[in-house]
Amino acid sequence: YVPVITLDGPSASGKGTIARLVSQALGFHYLDSGALYRLVALAAMKRGVDAGDEQGVVGIARSLDVSFADSSIRLDGIDVSDEIRAEACGEYASKIAQYSALRVELLERQRDLRKLPGLVADGRDMGSVIFPDATLKIYLTANEEERARRRHKQLMEKGINASIAHLVLALRERDERDSKRVASPLQQCEDTRLLDTTGLNIDQVVGKVLGMYAD
Ligand code: C5P
Repeated sequence: YVPVITLDGPSASGKGTIARLVSQALGFHYLDSGALYRLVALAAMKRGVDAGDEQGVVGIARSLDVSFADSSIRLDGIDVSDEIRAEACGEYASKIAQYSALRVELLERQRDLRKLPGLVADGRDMGSVIFPDATLKIYLTANEEERARRRHKQLMEKGINASIAHLVLALRERDERDSKRVASPLQQCEDTRLLDTTGLNIDQVVGKVLGMYAD
């Protein structure tokens, strides 16, 4: 039996940071599923495929040459860890994420990462679709303003300036698209535990997740 902890939630809820730290604490593997959608987005943009071209996008996903080695994410052998974090890449990713054929194409790639001693997976549909039998399913969130402030801090660290007001609108638009789509929408399921991180620091959230897992 290979244990899995899933962390789903809206953009900038801190899923990535928390999932990585929890995986390190437990010595588990880590799946950043958003990175897969971002990689398909980057590859499609580089090859001039329009986000509206579903078949083109699915073709890109099918032949995607990626590796997740030593915390660097490579596309066609090139480290694109920073490039895929660009807002344009996230935007494109959220548009193509509505294609169910694309989601099916990426399904096995994600399930294949379930290996001993265990996996921590973050995304939108980790608990609902990819690992429905996960050991622990968490829905991580924080209020809108706090999420916008976190994204702002992240961007400032990369030397990118954006207003909080603009970020609130961008996050809202992204989350609406992720929650309202037909294919694997972001949603809280019955067997998912809600963890609101508003006002909590990173250590506190990691502690709560580890506590839930130990229960
Ligand atoms: O989490 P991140 O911002 O990196 O994800 C980028 C986009 O990829 C999300 O806005 C969402 O539309 C899509 N995504 C998804 N399902 C996942 C992970 C990400 O649809 N499991």
